[in-house]
Amino acid sequence: MLKPFIDERTALTCVHCGLCLTSCPTYLETGDENLSPRGRIYLMRQLLSGRVPLNDATVQPLDVCLGCLGCQTVCPGSVHYGELIEHTRDFIEHGYQRSLYQWLLRRVLVEQVFPFPWRTKLALAPLQFIRWLRVEGWLPRFTRGMTSLVPAGFRSEPLPLISPTAATEKKGRIGFVEGCVQSVMFGPTNSAVVRLLTRAGFDVVTPPGQVCCGALYSHSGHLEKARDCARRNIEVFERFDVDHIVIGGSGCGATLKEYGLLLKDDPDWAARGKNFAAKVRDMVEILSPGSFTLKTESMPLVTYHDACHLNHAQGIRQQPRDLLKAVCGSRYVELPESDLCCGSAGSYNLTQPDMAARLQKRKVSNILKTGASVVLTTNPGCMLQIRAGLVAAGRADIEVVHLADFLDRLFCVSRSR
Ligand code: SF4
Ligand code: SF4
Repeated sequence: MLKPFIDERTALTCVHCGLCLTSCPTYLETGDENLSPRGRIYLMRQLLSGRVPLNDATVQPLDVCLGCLGCQTVCPGSVHYGELIEHTRDFIEHGYQRSLYQWLLRRVLVEQVFPFPWRTKLALAPLQFIRWLRVEGWLPRFTRGMTSLVPAGFRSEPLPLISPTAATEKKGRIGFVEGCVQSVMFGPTNSAVVRLLTRAGFDVVTPPGQVCCGALYSHSGHLEKARDCARRNIEVFERFDVDHIVIGGSGCGATLKEYGLLLKDDPDWAARGKNFAAKVRDMVEILSPGSFTLKTESMPLVTYHDACHLNHAQGIRQQPRDLLKAVCGSRYVELPESDLCCGSAGSYNLTQPDMAARLQKRKVSNILKTGASVVLTTNPGCMLQIRAGLVAAGRADIEVVHLADFLDRLFCVSRSR
């Protein structure tokens, strides 16, 4: 008898109405019902009942799901698709034999390298050297898509334990999560987030001993490892009395907000997980548009891509736009299909490069329609994916910038005047 890997009642809340189809990137790209949310939910139920086996044909439609949660946002029945796909992935990873290449990508690169900053630095060192020698073109063709994602000149920037605010009226204390990949490739962005928060009146504490938020594990079907990360981070942050917990990457923020759900069946940790999750905020939930001034003079035309894990997983759409309108005014333009996944989706662009490339092209084509010279977003993965897409399209002149760097830059410009 098969151990139930999802709650069938959750799966049965899907009434197959199809209202989510046009919000699903993989359905939009293919028109294939098997690659739609309701097709996948139906397949999960078939697997659960044992009516179909776990094999290439049944795993592929589930692997091609981005986990972007576009379907969850529009579902009138509030089907918790995120929970269904994460638990199904956990089931797949424990019972399905992958090819050697996929095994190396998933088990070694995604699970054994990326969650550990020093291992990521070590793994990227040969690429840095190859770039320094200017022989990147010699790399085998199948690795080029992957290496094109790694930004040139990335660097980490260690943060002090305490970054105090200079404001006379303190608003509270924030615990800052550095993120694993984020801290290696986007050190300056982390520093920018901390500066914005201290300017907003918060003392920022960056506790030592924190680990990966667990997103890399939960998205790739290793929920127990994700729970271990959650327990570790809860312990670390409980040592500091913080009012809020903030991170610079939306994908990680969404996972941190789910610690309560992740640990709900662990009696020793359920309440602690819930308390931790209740403190998590995205930077845009803390910053007030009123503290920024309009700077239309010499402002480039900017547009904004909604990171799925900010928009769909955390339901945050308006706040970044309010901030942008406050500083850019009419120099801000909406991006067509801004809420459609760019194909990054954590490690998806490594494990599913074909669909990721299709969505990357679609995103780039929408960006070009706006005429913007700066694309803003809030997730490092989206930045890497969109930047690589623009370079491939011959539009390296269009900047892709994290919202925190953009806002921080405005302050730096006004300071130097
Ligand atoms: S997931 Fe929601 S929107 Fe999609 S078919 Fe099921 S009930 Fe309808
Ligand atoms: S999570 Fe994204 S890709 Fe997966 S079914 Fe939902 S909308 Fe489609």
